[in-house]
Amino acid sequence: MNEQKPFYITTTLPYVNAEPHVGFAMEIIRADIFARYKKLMGYDVFFNTGTDEHCQKLWADALKVGEDVKTYVDRHAVMFRGLKEMLGISDDIHFIRTTDAHHESAAQEFWKRVEQNGYIYKKQYQIKYCVGCELEKTDSELIDSKCPIHPTYTIELIDEENYFFKFSAFQKPLLDFYAKNPHFVVPDFRFHEIKTFIEAGLEDFSISRLKSKMPWGVAVPGDDTQVMYVWFDALVNYISTLGWPENSDQFETFWKNGNPTQYCGKDNLRQQSAMWQAMLMAADLPNSHQIVINGFFTGDGGIKMSKSIGNVVTPNQVVDEYGTDMLRLFVSKEVSMFEDSPFTLERVAATYNANLVNGIGNLVSRSLTMAQSYDVDINDLVFPQFADIAHPAYERFDYAEVTNSIWAEIADLDKYITDTEPFKTFKVDPDKARADVHHVITGLARVSMLLQPIMPATADKIAELIKKREKPSEPLFIRK
Ligand SMILES: [Zn+2]
Repeated sequence: MNEQKPFYITTTLPYVNAEPHVGFAMEIIRADIFARYKKLMGYDVFFNTGTDEHCQKLWADALKVGEDVKTYVDRHAVMFRGLKEMLGISDDIHFIRTTDAHHESAAQEFWKRVEQNGYIYKKQYQIKYCVGCELEKTDSELIDSKCPIHPTYTIELIDEENYFFKFSAFQKPLLDFYAKNPHFVVPDFRFHEIKTFIEAGLEDFSISRLKSKMPWGVAVPGDDTQVMYVWFDALVNYISTLGWPENSDQFETFWKNGNPTQYCGKDNLRQQSAMWQAMLMAADLPNSHQIVINGFFTGDGGIKMSKSIGNVVTPNQVVDEYGTDMLRLFVSKEVSMFEDSPFTLERVAATYNANLVNGIGNLVSRSLTMAQSYDVDINDLVFPQFADIAHPAYERFDYAEVTNSIWAEIADLDKYITDTEPFKTFKVDPDKARADVHHVITGLARVSMLLQPIMPATADKIAELIKKREKPSEPLFIRK
């Protein structure tokens, strides 16, 4: 038996038909920070991400470019895997594709259980549907017959017989569950939003499509004419990634006892905190532990990012110019944890110069240069254990508070050098100067531990320089 306590965390699974965007980069970086935090606190962490590959959009896009659908999704899934290195994501992350054979059979097993429990039925219906949102749209939600979020997609008119999930049966169970779990959705204002939505009453939703019209999907068990559509396929990944249903040990450890935590954007509030939870209840499976909802990125002044305005920032742009850890710091420190925030290259540049070039970069260089030239003995220096010094704000997913407190310590160490002036003292009282530099290096060792979840590569680099008592051969962060 593993002695460590288990912990499970997942991102949502993006569709693979577009280049990875900066919103998903924020989601996976923030989930990674929490996964690293939990690991450093001594937990056995299962961290999941992947790609959602069965939607109508993908099928339509593959047809448009004249490519076989599987070849098309394979090509795009590779692009998403590249994110791991680019964003400094933990090596041991699990990457699930909804076209994996095991996932497909798990989705079918999940369907069968819900059907046996009486929550799936078939009916003829007509709706207007946005394949961008993967949601039904009422006339009042459309502008000029288009979805305002996806004006480039044509609204589909669906008139066919499909299977439905009896979502309406879960109004009371969901409200009871929320009442018993007062921190189920973070932040509170999103929790309030979903409660209000549920209180207004729930409508059953469609979970299949006619195979003759849209063949790209997991076969509905016992019905050759239909394929699963979106939710009973995509959402089941959160447990199929654990090997459910066959691998009951892993499921027991990480889903039942691992406080399963789901990170997502605000456009996923309903899917993660209501639809998926009702589906779990319908299959007699335990609910998630917590749903964390990020805001969106905007352009300058809160304007929506769009290609036509030309204010789209990609993760590549930031990483190419400033490095992976800069992007990780930016989405932790400078971006609101839960509200919408502007993301511009100007803001990235300002953060980079103030916090990395002048802040930590300058401190590392000054203090280690003095340690080396004054021959300061730091053999007695002990790096603290992360678990002993971790900031409690992690448990509220408030990385801005965490990072601001680290930069306050960096500022204190800078001030200590300015106040004690070891570069002057050394000429008259070298022991006093050495003691002052020793004090600063001790603080820096602590900072390198505190930085571990947020900027792991930088943290390692600083720790290594301290251990060798070596000034960096080139600045940690080059001025731009
Ligand atoms: Zn839409």
